[in-house]
Amino acid sequence: MNQDSSIASRLALVHDRIRGAALKAGRAPDAVTLLPVSKTFGEDAIREAVKAGVRRFGENKAQEIRSKYDPLADCGIDWVMIGHLQTNKAKDVARMASEIQSLDRLELAIALDRRLQQEGRAIDALVQIKTSSEPSKYGLPPEELPGFLRQVARDIPTLKIRGLMTLAINAPDQAAVRACFRKLRELRDQMRQEAIDGIDMDRLSMGMSGDFEIAIEEGSTEVRIGTAIFGGRIYGDDYYWPEQASATRR
Ligand SMILES: *Cc1c(COP(=O)(O)O)cnc(C)c1O
Repeated sequence: MNQDSSIASRLALVHDRIRGAALKAGRAPDAVTLLPVSKTFGEDAIREAVKAGVRRFGENKAQEIRSKYDPLADCGIDWVMIGHLQTNKAKDVARMASEIQSLDRLELAIALDRRLQQEGRAIDALVQIKTSSEPSKYGLPPEELPGFLRQVARDIPTLKIRGLMTLAINAPDQAAVRACFRKLRELRDQMRQEAIDGIDMDRLSMGMSGDFEIAIEEGSTEVRIGTAIFGGRIYGDDYYWPEQASATRR
């Protein structure tokens, strides 16, 4: 990481790498969108990214969206929730987020729906799928997806399902990482065949700073990138995935 470079130049570099990976995979250069992940970074860094053209930011914690929402209200940001969400924080997401990519259980869908009804809003949602056997990784088990989608389509009018999201296994073994992404794409293809009314399967959010080029080869339509744009984070990743404090994440 070049620490002297600005957020704008790192953003440009990441866009170049995304386009390059798409072309290399035989896909259109604009087939993959970028979701910059601003977790732990403050107002100044986010304003710099806004100045460089970013309007959508991913955050891993509801309380962080809440603390950034008012100070940055003038920027017209769409906040995207990408981290594990406790039901008692559903209210913040219902009020402030434009989208959730970490929808991983019915209990959460119901809690969000109740709050969204109160706010008079509907938001886009991606279902987070557990694609690796790492014991503590969040996500809906793939075999539960068809039933889950039918239930959301039938009972949860405020969540518009647009696709799937996953975090790949955190391992140096690239084949294992690729297998996670491939599993998500295959699951998306299966769900498309089921053609559940009211459910879109257009989006696949997969790939982070360390693995996004593999994700793009496997069909990602959206990569979530923090470190390669904003730099390293002060907190260890166990702060974001407290349940796996002993594991080292990328
Ligand atoms: C932090 C985070 C990212 C981005 O991770 P980097 O390795 O910094 O690019 C992507 N997805 C989720 C869910 C995250 O919490």
